[in-house]
Amino acid sequence: MNKSIVSLVKYEKSLESVRKVIDQAKGFEKLKPGFKVFIKPNIVCWFRGVEFPKWGVITTSRVMEDLVVLLKERGINDITIGEGIISFDPKDNEAVYKDAWEKLGYLKLQERYGVKLINLFEAPYKKIDIGCDFLVEINEEALKSDFFIDVPVLKTHAQARVSLGLKNLKGLLNMATRKKFHSANPEKDLHYNIAHFVNLFKNCLTIIDGIYTLERGPTMDGSSHRHDILIASTDMLSADLVGAKVLGFEPADVPHLAIAAKIQKRPSDLSDIETNGEKIEALMSHHEWDFPYNEAGDLPIQFHKHGMKGIKYPKYDSTLCSYCSVINGILLMGIKFAWDGRPFDNIEILTGKIKKPTPGMNKTILVGQCMCNANKNHPGIKEMILIKGCPPSKEAIKEGLEKAGIDVPDMFYKNFDKAPGMAMVRYKDKPEFDPKFYEIV
Ligand code: SF4
Repeated sequence: MNKSIVSLVKYEKSLESVRKVIDQAKGFEKLKPGFKVFIKPNIVCWFRGVEFPKWGVITTSRVMEDLVVLLKERGINDITIGEGIISFDPKDNEAVYKDAWEKLGYLKLQERYGVKLINLFEAPYKKIDIGCDFLVEINEEALKSDFFIDVPVLKTHAQARVSLGLKNLKGLLNMATRKKFHSANPEKDLHYNIAHFVNLFKNCLTIIDGIYTLERGPTMDGSSHRHDILIASTDMLSADLVGAKVLGFEPADVPHLAIAAKIQKRPSDLSDIETNGEKIEALMSHHEWDFPYNEAGDLPIQFHKHGMKGIKYPKYDSTLCSYCSVINGILLMGIKFAWDGRPFDNIEILTGKIKKPTPGMNKTILVGQCMCNANKNHPGIKEMILIKGCPPSKEAIKEGLEKAGIDVPDMFYKNFDKAPGMAMVRYKDKPEFDPKFYEIV
């Protein structure tokens, strides 16, 4: 049996550590001078005008620059970096990109090395069949590349369990396809759809950036750790299986990895993988992936422990897509601010595409167009409050919560855009969380 190689390295030094992990994986063996190379980092989200934690959320700019330098050494001059970044307001997209490229130092990569930067939401897509229930629209430039480099972060994910090489490819899709990925079909759900990326790129390299790792990702409401790990392989699934193991999972317990292994008729127990460098066991550490809820699954455990009553907010599911996930986090924060110790008025809040109302509630809030469409004619709802929009706006959220008698202080709405910055407190005075990893000097 031909084993695929996965390389594991402890990050020690700029350039040399990235060089080592690639060399050990024979990562550039199929790379030829003159190739068109496409790099996909993981810049999952961006919020303008606020300093928010990037550790474990976003691929480090350090690894990105090192990778570009190594490609130039190999005579590669046609390098494109592309990403589809989520923010609060899809209409703010252009400004968000400008800000992200500048603050992460990507404009320097452009000036210094001639790298092309692509806002994937504005670039052409091609409709192709990757085996999902629908055709997917994927960025054309990435598909046309001679060599594709995937640079995810070593993180867990509250829906997909891990977010590594395969999951990072979701950022190549247009928004309509991304929404379809969070399908309501239980057989062909998010996990099934992510798994079908497995045969998309033949000539590729995956470098998992674990300088910072993240629990309960994908964004800043998770907890980051400094682990200084780099993992690389020319086989994306093998990189992900090893990455999952390092994060403390049995790869077979990660649904999209188990399905992807089945698609490739491979075992998911690493028996067809050879590792080089550090031992997996030496790097392994358990990372939690989902947010704990009460036993009934209808209230976050923190709310439950603090005795919050008169409200049900059933746990998010895999049908909740990225924009509404951000809204979900903000709504929870708003409710926390609004609660003054007295019970709410027997309210239920529903999100995603498949949840059904609990009978007997006084008020049912349906969040997002999908949920509004799914339940707007439900006979069991006493008083229905629709927070429409795909995703809903700040104004729609405010109006909906007010109708339900959830009085969130005005200050919260005024500082709505600043909410991601609140997570910075967690990293204050911890020198291992170094912002320089996200700069290019
Ligand atoms: S309403 Fe929300 S969950 Fe539904 S497609 Fe729009 S953003 Fe996604």
